[in-house]
Order: sequence, then structure tokens, then C-alpha cells
Amino acid sequence: MLAGKVALVTGASRGIGKAIACKLAREGAKVIINYNGSKEKAEAVKSEIEAAGGQAEVYQCDVSDYTACETFIQTVIKEEGSLDILVNNAGITKDGLLMKMSEEDFDKVLDTNLKGAFNTIRFASRQMLRQKGGRIINMSSVVGVSGNAGQANYAASKAGVIGLTKAAARELASRGITVNAIAPGFIETDMTDVLSDKVKEASEAQIPLGHFGKPEDVAAAAAFLASEEARYITGQVLHVDGGMVM
Ligand code: NAP
Repeated sequence: MLAGKVALVTGASRGIGKAIACKLAREGAKVIINYNGSKEKAEAVKSEIEAAGGQAEVYQCDVSDYTACETFIQTVIKEEGSLDILVNNAGITKDGLLMKMSEEDFDKVLDTNLKGAFNTIRFASRQMLRQKGGRIINMSSVVGVSGNAGQANYAASKAGVIGLTKAAARELASRGITVNAIAPGFIETDMTDVLSDKVKEASEAQIPLGHFGKPEDVAAAAAFLASEEARYITGQVLHVDGGMVM
């Protein structure tokens, strides 16, 4: 149970982030729903949580903006009084073959997926160090472990998230802060909805369990890593991928 805890979930307006926000709220945490552009969707997640008896607030912040993250995290801490769980979920794709990939598309994906996680950890960990405890969960991907043709920027960002997770886990462990990553495989969200039927069928064929996962499958793993029961687990990468990458 997460009663009395404050949990910040980046990119919680849709998909996996929304499922994590709802799950942590059901476990009793007050959830800070972060979004970038989807204000109405983020407000709808807050309403859904409140209708189920939970607590939530909505904050806009582009996680790739270092200064904006500083203001965002400091405001949350000032308003809520603590910050116990940070889920770095916000992420984007801008796929293309390496030879044709623009510098802008490479930078944009790295800035959001990797630097965004650094930005929030940079400011949230200061508060967690003061509190002598906390949980940080970073969203990687199986692609960060295996690589994927057409996703050099995304794979690099998600591999970077694993390195960031392990370094942060080592730095913060002595103060009771755990840092872990989740590596989802194919999960049914807006991000994978854009894939062609051909790519979806080929992907499904690589999954031993035989089907795509749901956002709730990832949310269950996040809730476990955020729980008191996961106190002796840090620096790990938990695959939620139907066995796709072993
Ligand atoms: P999604 O449905 O496309 O949702 C992405 C979320 O990230 C949205 O809430 C979006 O907010 C937010 N976001 C994007 N850029 C942002 C920024 N600069 N600042 C703040 N928020 C930002 O994606 P998803 O499939 O749920 O994926 C969530 C995470 O899981 C990502 O890190 C993704 O890489 C990872 N993942 C997904 C899969 C999969 O199969 N779906 C597999 C492996 C890993 P707005 O709505 O406001 O734009």
C-alpha cells in the first residue's frame, strides 16, 4: 500500500503512464500527473482517479527542458510537502533508418527519453536524499537491450536510460533510494498503434507469449517496484515483454 506517498508520473496523460498513475492512485498514493501537450487527456486521468476515490494533481512540463523541470519539481515538493516515487515514463519515437535520420530527430528523442529522465532525477533525488528514502522507476524498452533497425535514436535513448538507472542506483542506495528500470516489449498504446499490420504481425511472431501487452501489465510492475516490498531491489531492469527478449 502506498497511502501517504506522493508519486510523480511523467507522461501520464495517455498509454502506459496513465495506467501507472491510475494503479499507484489505487494503491493509495497521491499522484502527480505530468503531461506535455495533452491537457484535456491529463485532466481526464485526474477525474478518473478522483471518481475512483483517489487523489491526483495535473502539471504541464516538457521534461526535456532542464530549467522547466527544476521549477516543476520544486513546485511539486513545495505544494505536496514530499516526493516519494518518481516514474520517468515520458517518451517519444521518431523512427527512421540511420542513414536518413536527421540530427533534429536524433536530438529530440535523446532529449525527451534520456535527458528528460536525468532532469527529473537531478531535482527529485535532492528531496529523496533529504527524506532518506524514495523510489525511482525509469521506462526503458527491450529495444534498449536488443537494438532495433530503424530506431537508432530510440534504442540509444533507452540503452542510455539503463546506464542512467544503474549509475543513479549506485549513487543513491546508501540513502535508501532504489532506482530501477522497466523494459516493456510491445504494449498496446498510441505509440504502437501507428505501426503497420505487417510490422505488428512480425513483432507478435517474436513474442513467446504470443500477443502484445497491455499498459496495465507495465503498471503492475511499476507498482511493485514502487512498493515497500521491493526495498531490496535496485539497479535492475525488469522486462515486461511476454518473453520477447531473454
Ligand atoms: P504514448 O502513448 O505515446 O504516450 C507518451 C506519453 O509521454 C504522453 O503522456 C506524452 O504526453 C508524454 N510525453 C511525450 N513527450 C513529453 C515531454 N517532452 N514532456 C512530458 N511528457 C511527454 O507512449 P506509451 O506507449 O505509453 O509509452 C510510454 C513509455 O513507455 C515511453 O517512454 C516509451 O518509450 C516506453 N515504451 C513503450 C512501449 C510500447 O510498446 N508502447 C514499449 C517500450 C517502451 P502528451 O500526451 O502531453 O504529449
